[in-house]
Amino acid sequence: MARAWHLKSRPEGTPTADNFELKEIALPPLGEGMIRVRNHWLSVDPYMRGRMNDVKSYVPPFQLGEPMEGGAVGEVVESKADGFAPGDLVLHMGGWRDEAVVPARAATRLPDLGAEPQRFLGVLGTTGATAYFGLLDAATAKEGDIVFVSAAAGAVGSVAVQIAKAKGMTVIGSAGGEAKCDYVRSLGADAVIDYRAAPILKSLTAAAPEGIDVYFDNVGGSHLDAALALARNNARFAICGMIESYNAREPSSLRFLMRIIAARVRLKGFLVFDYQPRFDEFYRDMGAWLKSGAVKAEETVVEGLKRTPEAFLGLFEGANLGKMLVKL
Ligand code: NDP
Repeated sequence: MARAWHLKSRPEGTPTADNFELKEIALPPLGEGMIRVRNHWLSVDPYMRGRMNDVKSYVPPFQLGEPMEGGAVGEVVESKADGFAPGDLVLHMGGWRDEAVVPARAATRLPDLGAEPQRFLGVLGTTGATAYFGLLDAATAKEGDIVFVSAAAGAVGSVAVQIAKAKGMTVIGSAGGEAKCDYVRSLGADAVIDYRAAPILKSLTAAAPEGIDVYFDNVGGSHLDAALALARNNARFAICGMIESYNAREPSSLRFLMRIIAARVRLKGFLVFDYQPRFDEFYRDMGAWLKSGAVKAEETVVEGLKRTPEAFLGLFEGANLGKMLVKL
């Protein structure tokens, strides 16, 4: 029997441990084209909060009483699929559990980049790709730009800061608390903002006296509003995520929304999945940056399947530096 986390109830506001239940499940027999995978690493991500609500979105909601899913890296233990053999390490979506049977076409053998397997859930996975395509494509950030990155000590944000520095940009990063700000500074950020210590608008005004050309938005709400207030003419915003609102019961309002007009701001929402056909480009550049040390991977590791909800809930309290992972 495998063990999988199930959605027990839908949260109102901030989720709690009571919304999850760990239960045994019988895995289906291995059909043609399927593989059985023993998971070694699970990813927990802020977007999963949206899947706990019963609303239509770009990914379907988790069903009540059903196993949850998410990114995972594991080892093939049985295969009825061409090209997959026991011992292969694969990336797949059968996470939130210790073992999964998945179609091989929905699994990817880890590319041979000489990296540790869990990196493919972080800096070499959708996390890193989100930072890469969000910054360089959605925001069209370029050398010389003044770039503001929110949640800059987190998984996506910390990579965005490092790519921006590798490409010759001036970077301002925001994070919660002194220790995280020290970490963002260590990544090469030119200025850091502890958004918990003072109102973000005041701090960003001080950190960016000439304004900003690019905003990489992981937070939304008051951060987005402050970025709009400081936007220079023709600023480009990559709207990646809005974690400030994920657990909010009321919508947030933006005082500086009208700055979009006067400053000709371009806002571009994006989903990393749309960039799948261009992942080779990402592997090439990120592989090189990791090798040269221009980008360093940071991970917060929580051990044990039982602690998966704890790791997930920690994302909303800032418990992680870099990518939050569960090690089985
Ligand atoms: P992170 O590793 O950044 O974890 C979340 C972080 O957000 C926390 O560590 C915390 O850092 C910060 N945070 C939590 N609540 C708040 C709040 N109320 N105000 C400000 N900061 C807060 O997660 P990811 O890097 O995985 O994701 C970052 C963002 O990118 C998310 O919004 C996510 O939904 C989005 N995303 C979008 C993708 C896309 O395709 N568009 C793909 C992947 C992620 P701190 O301690 O500094 O507050």
